[in-house]
Amino acid sequence: MDLKEFWLNSLKRLYPTITHQKFVSWFKNTAAISIEKGTLTVGLPTTFAQNWVNDKYKIKVLQAAQELNPEIEKVVFEVHATLDNPADGRAVNIDVIIGKKRKSRKISGGREVSYGDGLKSKAFNPRYTLNNFIVGKDNRLPHAACMAAANMPGGIYNPLFIYGGVGLGKTHLLQATGIEILKNRPDAKVIYMSAEKFVTEIVEAIGKRYTKEFKAKYRNVDCLILDDVQFFARKDSSQQEFFHTFDDLYNFNKQILISCDRSPSELEGIDTRLVSRFTMGMVVELLFPDFETRLAILHAKCREHGVIIDSEILEFIAYNTQKSIRELEGILLQVVALSQIQNTVPTLALVAGIMKKLNKSKEIVGIQEIKTETKRIVRDSDDVMDMVCEHFNITRTELLGNDRRREFALPRQICMYLMKNELDHSYEKIGRDFSGRTHTTVLHACNKVVSSMKTDEKLVRDLNALKKEMGL
Ligand code: ADP
Ligand code: MG
Repeated sequence: MDLKEFWLNSLKRLYPTITHQKFVSWFKNTAAISIEKGTLTVGLPTTFAQNWVNDKYKIKVLQAAQELNPEIEKVVFEVHATLDNPADGRAVNIDVIIGKKRKSRKISGGREVSYGDGLKSKAFNPRYTLNNFIVGKDNRLPHAACMAAANMPGGIYNPLFIYGGVGLGKTHLLQATGIEILKNRPDAKVIYMSAEKFVTEIVEAIGKRYTKEFKAKYRNVDCLILDDVQFFARKDSSQQEFFHTFDDLYNFNKQILISCDRSPSELEGIDTRLVSRFTMGMVVELLFPDFETRLAILHAKCREHGVIIDSEILEFIAYNTQKSIRELEGILLQVVALSQIQNTVPTLALVAGIMKKLNKSKEIVGIQEIKTETKRIVRDSDDVMDMVCEHFNITRTELLGNDRRREFALPRQICMYLMKNELDHSYEKIGRDFSGRTHTTVLHACNKVVSSMKTDEKLVRDLNALKKEMGL
């Protein structure tokens, strides 16, 4: 056992013998400095702590240390002023000892905003705004509906029911709408909570026979936002209570916003009267966004986190993420973290490795090629041409010729693209290499490849494989 581990274990034994507060005050930023000839030397960051601990805790420290190492006969305390500087690195992190206690305290609370009369809302996450929600064709409608509800709460988009799979931005939109309503009307009572929490409150109220108070309380709300209402399924008495609250709010033109993981017609175990209430206003589906929108989201998240990542890497992530935006963000954050740890610029191979780990079962476009690649040295146009011909199984004459059929035109365009982007040759030079074509022909070919990359899965795969072969 090294000194740090030894001291951590000693503190673990000491912790239950004194109060939490005192333990934190006196044993934060402390370390075992040495154990020599039966003497344990403990370092403390201040003279004050040295005197105090020596006075009050010497015996307890000795006992805890002796349990681990019976050869220790004596403890001395020394001042090591740098111990409270994290850069010193010798001090034990007592969070691992007191961590559990902290966690259990936290569970009940969470961050909440209280409106009086027992009305509480979960605090909004300021990261979620309508402005930083990236809009593409697949999520334009839900976004527009939220904007409308925020600008005119209780209007025609009431209730607003947003549904879609996990990690597609439902919570983001709901919270952003709440934040926007509060911006327009800072005194409004905007309550945001998960349907699960709402059910817990209802059950509590029923148990204490407080249902009247419960109803009265929610009647004062200006906007009620319930996230994940699928939680109401099969909770019949909760549904009953919610039904009344819903009608009260609705009749007074208070805005109701609801999210759900499926459409109202697919909801099971929820009273049909309630389901029909859900559909009285606007029902919109949030879909998994298309490639361009996913890419735009990645660019936005990079800006948000202040990191710069090559567009090609972002395209690869956007292309290969097929499920949720949460997954997309998760991969990006891992890429950032890993490249920071390794102090390198993220490469396609690094990203592919991360994605492979996360998606054990799924085939990732480009991965297979990366794995089985045989690197070769690609130095000039000739090498690229050879490589492309081999990859597409065409001859050099076919590559350089004028046959416009796709099987020849595509390799030709890809070849030009690689020469431009990877070898940095000018359009003019590439034109000359391709039997004297003009520079505009080459320019068009390169642009064609770039635009096709967004929709053509096979093309991306081919390009990744070729680049990999070039050692990129
Ligand atoms: P859901 O509630 O549908 O499970 P979330 O609202 O928690 O999903 O979204 C997951 C993550 O994806 C959040 O960090 C959110 O900010 C982000 N996100 C989803 N859609 C978009 C979008 N169109 N623009 C920006 N971020 C988005
Ligand atoms: Mg959510």
